[in-house]
Amino acid sequence: MERIYNFSAGPSMLPLPVLEQAQKEMTNYKGSGMSVMELSHRSGWFKEIIEGAEQGLRDLMQIPDNYKVLFLQGGASQQFAMVPMNLLGSKKKVDYVNTGSWSKKAMKEAERFADVNVIASSEEENFTYIPEVTKDMIDPEAAYVHITTNNTIEGTAFGTIPDTGDVPLVADMSSNILSEEIDVSKFGIIYAGAQKNIGPAGLTVVIIREDLIGHAGEDVPAMLNYKTHSDAGSLYNTPPSFAIYMAKLVFEYIQGLGGLKEMEKQNREKAALLYETVEASDLFTSPVREDSRSIMNVPFVSPSAETDAAFLEEAKKKGLETLKGHRSVGGMRASIYNAMPREGVEALVSFMKEFEQEHK
Ligand SMILES: *Cc1c(COP(=O)(O)O)cnc(C)c1O
Repeated sequence: MERIYNFSAGPSMLPLPVLEQAQKEMTNYKGSGMSVMELSHRSGWFKEIIEGAEQGLRDLMQIPDNYKVLFLQGGASQQFAMVPMNLLGSKKKVDYVNTGSWSKKAMKEAERFADVNVIASSEEENFTYIPEVTKDMIDPEAAYVHITTNNTIEGTAFGTIPDTGDVPLVADMSSNILSEEIDVSKFGIIYAGAQKNIGPAGLTVVIIREDLIGHAGEDVPAMLNYKTHSDAGSLYNTPPSFAIYMAKLVFEYIQGLGGLKEMEKQNREKAALLYETVEASDLFTSPVREDSRSIMNVPFVSPSAETDAAFLEEAKKKGLETLKGHRSVGGMRASIYNAMPREGVEALVSFMKEFEQEHK
């Protein structure tokens, strides 16, 4: 069977050359006589993989030396709790920007540990834009400010990263890490579940400024303490070894394309193609304010639930799959992460035009 264009919000497509390389190395990794899944995580083979993965990510994102890279488990959802557990120290208050479903889940976890102050929100407009965040909104006594840089469900993204001064900025970057160039030094912590732009599910990447490590209380379990993983080079216990190997291949693949500069160029072109089609259409509309649109997740709606359903059914027959919008937004959502080829977006927009001709 042919591969389809999978527009899923996650787990999402992986680059075909990466899958093919993994397939080639599946049963005998570099003459070890084993697959990566069977290698000891204490072996030289695996040491080379995990160190290579870290270096690959450092090179791509130009991560400064005073930041640690941690390869963890538990998903972005576990970071919702780990962030307050590790950063609060003697402080009691934390600032959050509420830009959608994932922000709300992050806040809900933080409420177990801290007084959560929502400094900006777009909830009153159904999260269809990114609210402005200025320095004077931030409580200087807050342990950190939390943002969701790309809102996977709502299809919005921060165009500029807010300046939070001396209060560390923490970002859930699950759905747009590696999609464009960013300045890591603006952040205290960046975290991301791997299954959108990095690799298979099961791996969570945390990039953390060194001075933010070591503030967890005695009651914080070892596995939930950044210091445990930082001290052990992410090998405190058995890490998700195969997912780390896949991530390393993805990092090498992106570097081979020309790094994040080239990745960003491709992503902006793909997104423009889709938004231009929606704008020109008399059938489809975008629910998102123009200045807040994501280049990773593109929701669009037709005038009726019946038309949406017909679109989804016919798209599937053309190998354009998982385009159903999140239940909170409805309509369609095309997730066009790094690994979605331009040809996939071209196939989608030509189908949209064809569908519109038949349904106007
Ligand atoms: C997918 C996603 C999550 C949840 O990630 P898990 O790894 O499944 O916990 C959190 N935040 C954002 C922005 C996401 O896109």
